[in-house]
Amino acid sequence: MSISTAPDQTPRVLCWLRRDLRLHDHAALHHALKSGLPVACVFIFDSTILDSLPADDVRLAFIHDSLLQVQEQLRQYGSELITAHGDPVQKIPELANRLNAKAVYANEDYEPAAMARDQTVSHTLSGQGMELKLFKDQVIFARDEILTQQRQPYTVFTPYKRNWLARIQSEDAQAYDCSQGEWAALPEQALPDLEELGFQEKSRAKLLSPAGWQGAQTLLEQFEPRIHAYHERRDFPAKRGVSYLAPHLRFGTLSIRQAVSLAWPSDSNGAATWLSELIWREFYQQFLWHHPETATESFKPAYKDLPFPNREDWFQVWKDGQTGYPIVDAAMRQLNQSGYMHNRLRMISASFLVKDLLIDWRWGEQYFAQKLLDYDMASNVGGWQWAASTGCDAQPYFRIFNPITQSRKFDPDGQFIRRYVPELASLDKQAIHAPWQAKQLPIEFRSGKDYPAPIVDHDTQRHLALALFKQAGEQEQAD
Ligand SMILES: Cc1cc2nc3c(=O)[nH]c(=O)nc-3n(C[C@H](O)[C@H](O)[C@H](O)COP(=O)(O)OP(=O)(O)OC[C@H]3O[C@@H](n4cnc5c(N)ncnc54)[C@H](O)[C@@H]3O)c2cc1C
Repeated sequence: MSISTAPDQTPRVLCWLRRDLRLHDHAALHHALKSGLPVACVFIFDSTILDSLPADDVRLAFIHDSLLQVQEQLRQYGSELITAHGDPVQKIPELANRLNAKAVYANEDYEPAAMARDQTVSHTLSGQGMELKLFKDQVIFARDEILTQQRQPYTVFTPYKRNWLARIQSEDAQAYDCSQGEWAALPEQALPDLEELGFQEKSRAKLLSPAGWQGAQTLLEQFEPRIHAYHERRDFPAKRGVSYLAPHLRFGTLSIRQAVSLAWPSDSNGAATWLSELIWREFYQQFLWHHPETATESFKPAYKDLPFPNREDWFQVWKDGQTGYPIVDAAMRQLNQSGYMHNRLRMISASFLVKDLLIDWRWGEQYFAQKLLDYDMASNVGGWQWAASTGCDAQPYFRIFNPITQSRKFDPDGQFIRRYVPELASLDKQAIHAPWQAKQLPIEFRSGKDYPAPIVDHDTQRHLALALFKQAGEQEQAD
C-alpha cells in the first residue's frame, strides 16, 4: 500500500462512511482504493439526525468510539479521517470540492430518508462534475435481487429464506480486499469530542460491550464457541445465548459477509438458526425497500385504522417499566438502562403494549427507535408489525402472548427479573412471575407498594384485543 504526499490539489476520491464504520471488508472502500487515486475517508455528524437525539444518547458514544478506531487505523496508513458536523447534503459536496475529489464512493443505504439524501447529494455532485458511486455492502442480497417466480417481492419469510439459501454462492460471502491502493496524506485533524457535538461524555459508560471493528471481532470470537447451542439458548434472556452483534451490523463495524461466513455453510442446528436470523434481517430490509409506506402504516389493509384507545398514562407506565408484570418491567428497564433488549423480551413487551394495553404499535416502534442501540428501521418496523399482527408474515391476531406464561417459560428461576427489578429480588421463583397471585410472599414485601399491582387484567384485555381485531377484519370483509 502506498501513501500520496502530493500537494493539496492532487486529485482524490472520497470514501464517505455512513453505516459502515470500518476499514476492513468494505465494498465502497475496496472500489475507491482500486480507482488509482488516493483515497480520503470522510464522516459527517449528520445534524438532521443528531439534533433530534437526547444528550445522553448511547448511539453517539458507539459511533464516536468506532470512529476513533477508524482514525487510529488511518493514521497507521499515513492518512486521516476527515469529519464535519452539519447536513451531509451540503457538507459532502463542500468537502468534495475542498479535497479536490473526482468522485465520492459510498455504500448503499436502503432507508427511505437515506435514499432521498443520496439522490440530492448525487445531483449536487454531478453539478460539480463529480459522481456519487454507490455499492451494495450491508446485505448479501439487496432490494429486488430475491423475488418470487412471478417477479414479486416476498411477503412470507420461509420461501424467501429457501430462495436466499439456494442463491448464495461463496463469492457472495467473500471479503472485499481493502489492503491494496493509495491513501491520501492529509494534515492531522482531531475528531470533535462528544461534548462539542452536544452529547454527554458520560454516556460512553453506558456502552455494555465494546464498539468499533475491534469490539465486533471480540464479540464474534466469544460467540463462535457458543453458536452450536444458539437454537437452544437464544430464548432465555438470563443466559448468554445470543451474539449481541446487532449494533455492529447496524453501524457496519462488522461486515455482513464476515457474519454470514461464521454460519454458512451451516454445520450445526445452532449455526443454521443463527443464519436464519441474519436472513430475517435481509427479509425485512427488502420488504421495507419495496414497501416504504410500512414504516408508518400497517401492512395489512384491514388493520390500518385499528381504533386503539391509546391511553397516554398506560403508555408512560409501560415506558417506565412499572406495569406490575415483572417480565415486561424487567425488559423495559433493561432497554432504558442499556439501550439493549433481548429478542424474546422485545416480542413480549411489544405484544403487551399492543394487545394488553391496546396502544398503537407505532407508539412502541417510536419508543424503541429512540432507545435501541441497534435501532434499525427495517427490523424494528418488521418486529413491531409482527408482534402487532399487522405486518407481513406476522403473528396471527388471535395469538396473544400471556406475559406470565412467557415469564415462567423463558426466565424460569426469575434470574433476569431479579437483575432489573430489584424490588422483587426476595421473591422465590414461584412468586416472582406474578406476585399478586402468590400464595406466600416474604413478610417484608408489601405487594402493590414495593412493586405496583398489575395495571390491567391480562384475560380481560385479551378479549378486548380479540374483539378489536375481529371487528376490523369483519368490517373490511363487509366493505
Ligand atoms: C419489536 C421488535 C423490535 C426489533 N427491533 C430491532 C431493531 O431495531 N434492530 C435490530 O437489529 N433488530 C431488531 N429486532 C430483532 C431482534 O430482536 C434483534 O436483532 C436481536 O435481539 C439483536 O440481538 P443479537 O444481536 O444478540 O441477535 P442474535 O440473536 O445474535 O441474531 C443475530 C443477528 O441477526 C439479526 N436478527 C436477529 N433476529 C432478528 C429479527 N427478528 N429480525 C431481524 N433481524 C434479526 C440481527 O442483526 C442480529 O444481530 C426487533 C425485534 C422485535 C420483536
